[in-house]
Amino acid sequence: MITSEIESNKIFEKPIEEQTLSDIMGRRPRLLVVDDQAANVQVIFKAFAQDHQVFMATNGSQAINACKEKLPDLVLLDIEMPDINGFEVCSRLKSNPLTKDIPVIFVTSHDNEDAEAKGFAVGAVDFITKPISREIVRARVRTHLLLKQQADLLRKWVYMDGLTGVFNRRHFNERYSAEWGRAFRHGGPLSLIFIDVDFFKKYNDHYGHQMGDEVLRKIAVAFKGVISRSADLIARYGGEEFVCLLPDTDAHGSYVVAKEFSEAVRALKIEHVQSSDHKIVTISMGVATFHGGCKGGADDLLRMADECLYQAKRRGRNRINSMLAPLSSESIMPPTYQPPVIDRAEDHYGP
Ligand SMILES: [Mg+2]
Repeated sequence: MITSEIESNKIFEKPIEEQTLSDIMGRRPRLLVVDDQAANVQVIFKAFAQDHQVFMATNGSQAINACKEKLPDLVLLDIEMPDINGFEVCSRLKSNPLTKDIPVIFVTSHDNEDAEAKGFAVGAVDFITKPISREIVRARVRTHLLLKQQADLLRKWVYMDGLTGVFNRRHFNERYSAEWGRAFRHGGPLSLIFIDVDFFKKYNDHYGHQMGDEVLRKIAVAFKGVISRSADLIARYGGEEFVCLLPDTDAHGSYVVAKEFSEAVRALKIEHVQSSDHKIVTISMGVATFHGGCKGGADDLLRMADECLYQAKRRGRNRINSMLAPLSSESIMPPTYQPPVIDRAEDHYGP
């Protein structure tokens, strides 16, 4: 989802000064204009209506609700309002994770340093004083929309794997931690699939690393084609290892997804003469599922999925090995079970 936004983004195609904001964002920018005086709202509306999508609010509570519902790209916010004043609206927006990154520009008749200082203290990015000049308000809005767009892109890139275009391990770790907490509170289920490309070192040795990179890219695209729900996540865990996070998914559901991954990769029919008997690129997977009443924590589920993957590889690869987290009163772990080291670089290409 996020990758396709980045891929389709035109920000790198021509110099930024030649692009309209709609070019850069792939849609018309969304502005929320907040002022208790309808006449003031109208002035700003006229300045932007042609090339922006403009929402309006005439008091503080409306403004906060509109931000949550419409998620505007920027807010032009009056300070003096009868119910909740602009400073308070701004600090509430900044304290909500959903709205905290929306830039706020105060539009005010105040012309004193104290008001400006207070505005910046509550998180505003800029000030515009009334009466409004169309050119100035448009220029400032453009500047802050561009900055916001660039910050959003950077934030996305921080969480992307540059080679394959799926999420990276950092993002997986953050989402996993959040989803584990949610599953724990609600009693699950939550599933993890660890995925490893079979005989990948042999592939690289035989076909070269560039071809190996191409395999990882193709496989990542195939995985993305399988994932359908927005809450599901596929990430590159390291080397030729991927991980899939499936919230609200039980053992059966996650096995179905793993099977689809396997079929999607085999359908690519990528030649691999060094593969044991299949002669095409295949994957091995370890699936672990957490249910209510299970014992152990987030790290245990990770170790279980990793252990399952290890067993799938030991048993001949190109297969799925799955495990339910043990109930708190019993253990279905194999008696020889030893927690493996998750970050096992030397084992990535091992037999
Ligand atoms: Mg006012």
